[in-house]
Amino acid sequence: MEINHIILKVASICNLSCDYCYVFNKQDKSYLIQNNVMTYEIARTLINRIEKYLSRNTNKTICITFHGGEPLMAGKLFYEQFASELHSKVGNRAMLSIQTNGTLIDKEWCDIFKKYKIAVGISIDGDKEANIHRKDKDNVPAYDRIINGYILLVKNGLTPGILSVINTKQSPQDYYNSRIQVNNATASNKRNATSRV
Ligand code: SF4
Repeated sequence: MEINHIILKVASICNLSCDYCYVFNKQDKSYLIQNNVMTYEIARTLINRIEKYLSRNTNKTICITFHGGEPLMAGKLFYEQFASELHSKVGNRAMLSIQTNGTLIDKEWCDIFKKYKIAVGISIDGDKEANIHRKDKDNVPAYDRIINGYILLVKNGLTPGILSVINTKQSPQDYYNSRIQVNNATASNKRNATSRV
């Protein structure tokens, strides 16, 4: 069997509780019988298997996407260990990425993403109104925290992707405008940061 891409579910918990979440608020209850976060022992087993696979398939590369729940809840040490151990074994033949809700991102996370070349995708559904379903367990809307995470990544020289759940009632034009808005907010934050230097 040929392996190109592994989606690695490193956390079965999340700091948010979006209305539409198929895990925490819909049918998928598998998280109830899983560890909150993947143990490093399991991660190491995977790293060893990837090393073996790539040593048998010398012309191949592999992509690994950290996923959840909220994957940042596995903690910074998990990613530092994982990325440095994996890279020491297979070099740049394994490419890393992460799909996060963005709310927990701080400067240290940005440094880790940059150091280990982890591509970041943030889940943003459109403008503030379109993100109405994104909230934490106390019903506090998460939109501002999501956008702050996105802006922080850009300010730190990263280029995050955006993954959106689009409500069919949302007009494509509104969605497009929301993307422009995020770009403008990011650009103005970058300008402010530069003018303060
Ligand atoms: S951020 Fe993702 S994993 Fe967390 S509650 Fe929302 S949809 Fe579910």
